[in-house]
Amino acid sequence: MRPPLLHRRCPELAGSLPFLRLGEGPTPVRVLPGLDTRAELWIKDESGYGDGGWGGNKVRKLEWLLPEARRRGARTILTVGGLGTNWGLAAACYAREQGLRVALGLIDHPVDEHVQAQLARLRASGATLHFLHTKTGLIMAAPWLFARHTYGRTPPYFLPAGGSSPLGALGAVEIALELAGQVEAGDLPEPAWLVTAVGSGGTAAGLALGLRLAGLRTRVLGVVVNDTLRLDTATLLGLARRSAALLRDRGADLGRARPAPDAIRTETAWLGDGYAHPTRSGDQALARAAAQAGLALERTYTAKALAALLDLDATGRLEGGPVVFLHTHGPR
Ligand SMILES: *Cc1c(COP(=O)(O)O)cnc(C)c1O
Repeated sequence: MRPPLLHRRCPELAGSLPFLRLGEGPTPVRVLPGLDTRAELWIKDESGYGDGGWGGNKVRKLEWLLPEARRRGARTILTVGGLGTNWGLAAACYAREQGLRVALGLIDHPVDEHVQAQLARLRASGATLHFLHTKTGLIMAAPWLFARHTYGRTPPYFLPAGGSSPLGALGAVEIALELAGQVEAGDLPEPAWLVTAVGSGGTAAGLALGLRLAGLRTRVLGVVVNDTLRLDTATLLGLARRSAALLRDRGADLGRARPAPDAIRTETAWLGDGYAHPTRSGDQALARAAAQAGLALERTYTAKALAALLDLDATGRLEGGPVVFLHTHGPR
């Protein structure tokens, strides 16, 4: 198995931080013409990452989380998400291959055809689904869920929404290290901005840490698409710092490296009525991406992120150099 770039950057981690490769990197970067942006627009395409039935950025998190679950001797991963959760689906698909089960506590949100298809995939994935409807319902059910998924003395390995624990966020550190390698190889210029949707924060936080470790000046533009979690800049930077602390705990020599206060900029104006509520600007960006760039986006994350990118670019609020759009969606 090819080791992760993080182990190359910090050889001290090779024996202390297990990694399970689930996809082939580096994922491609290419210029994205056709959308008439002022800035030079690039895409880093995560959609093809992984081959276990689902792709995208969640697979990157599982490369660190699944071996940790095994290290703990857990039989079940217990986690939470919305009805159309990409995270839950990816976890179920890849955990199964490792002999682990996934139990999901699910919260309601608007259901469209995409979400319905997702639910059907979730049911087919072998995950145990608990429909708890609201966040309060989920919190109330937590003790029961833990007990229900404890085998003998082994509790489930609990993971937060989106797999955005400090360990899960390392998935995006790897994306950033790949991007840095591609910049170094001359595949693309050093970007001023790396744009991602923010659903649970692990991706934006990990990107910021990885860019810092790689010595790039690129800043993360996080387009917040979820209003059920606290996802402001300070919270995301806090998660990045907790990931850095985890690396230090496992023996990494990072010096004093930590993301600067301006490493992440969050934008909340493209959320609309809330998580998984489609927006007009998102739907317009989705249509433009399909027609002008041959890009298939979905409405919950990537369409809103691209809408923000296009609006900020058009109004001169995304200046300073090339912009990379992180394509995080990976249906199969
Ligand atoms: C989960 C997800 C994101 C956001 O990543 P987080 O780490 O949860 O912030 C973006 N795009 C897609 C398609 C996702 O499924």
